[in-house]
Amino acid sequence: MDSFNNEELKKHLKVLKELGFEEIILDKKFISKDEILKERKKLLEKINEEIQICEKCDLHKSRTNAVLGEGNIETRLMFVGEAPGEEEDKQGRPFVGRAGKLLTKLIERAGYKREEFYIANICKCRPPGNRTPTLDEMEKCFPYLKEQIEIINPKVLCLLGAVAGQAFLNRKVKITKERGTVIKWNDRILLLTYHPAYVLRNPKEEETLFKDIKRAIEIAYKGL
Ligand code: SF4
Repeated sequence: MDSFNNEELKKHLKVLKELGFEEIILDKKFISKDEILKERKKLLEKINEEIQICEKCDLHKSRTNAVLGEGNIETRLMFVGEAPGEEEDKQGRPFVGRAGKLLTKLIERAGYKREEFYIANICKCRPPGNRTPTLDEMEKCFPYLKEQIEIINPKVLCLLGAVAGQAFLNRKVKITKERGTVIKWNDRILLLTYHPAYVLRNPKEEETLFKDIKRAIEIAYKGL
């Protein structure tokens, strides 16, 4: 069966509706993997264009680049941090500073490559001086990440730090007490852990962060 373009598909759906069909189940096997990936890339590019000119909160005033995220857009696991830092703001890429290097190192130690997963942040613009984003800034930016999650559709979200946890759970998170916690969130699984920047300041926690990352990967591939 040939795949439809959007206009053709709309016409066919209209005819079926007129014939009295209330519910139509689309058989995914008729949509090629390439088409799905192309569509995902297009949708993510659209979000990227939006955030580069977004002025919903004051963080736009001091940004060099808004940072969308990067990685495998078919992944089962997404890492979510707080916001870009100085290096991320300069390069327009997530987790490329010291904390990012630690995250990459721990993913590799678990036997994987960073490119196998997707990495993003709650806020897309760098807070001045790397301060914690305010609640208002997080609330205004979170919808972009939610769209990314819908598009990429990961099974597991590994939340790096209290701020990421707070944005998803809509409450204060005490990460030293709650790290390692696994929580169901809509149809997905959240795993709370430390932000790598925290571990850089508290090197004795590196092993704990490693274990959490490994567990998030295991849940993503094997389930709970
Ligand atoms: S942080 Fe998010 S909401 Fe604020 S200006 Fe940047 S993209 Fe817009």
